[in-house]
Amino acid sequence: MMADDDTINCGTHGKQPFCLVCIHLIERIFPAGEIVQVTHPGEGLPDDWTCQACADAVEAAGGDEEVLGPGRLDTLRPGCLPCCEKLLARSGIRKDPLTGSWFTTETH
Ligand SMILES: [Zn+2]
Ligand SMILES: [Zn+2]
Repeated sequence: MMADDDTINCGTHGKQPFCLVCIHLIERIFPAGEIVQVTHPGEGLPDDWTCQACADAVEAAGGDEEVLGPGRLDTLRPGCLPCCEKLLARSGIRKDPLTGSWFTTETH
């Protein structure tokens, strides 16, 4: 286990769980309905959120810890959990309070 990787020191929120969001979700350039929530069952890690294409790329690379770093998958942005959720909300991606799953809100 690499416990130090599980948290990030955010300038706004302080020490928080570390998570990843792909830039396609942040910049709203993902196909509708293709948001993917990447979970880490049993690893105690917070969830990540990517579009389907990025999820495929992460899986092809063998997992998210393998794809971070210079010269690797540059479409993933690390951040603290509250910041990531804020970015998602700004892109119209919200958590269903009943099911706990994430969905996009269509505005057209
Ligand atoms: Zn993406
Ligand atoms: Zn933050």
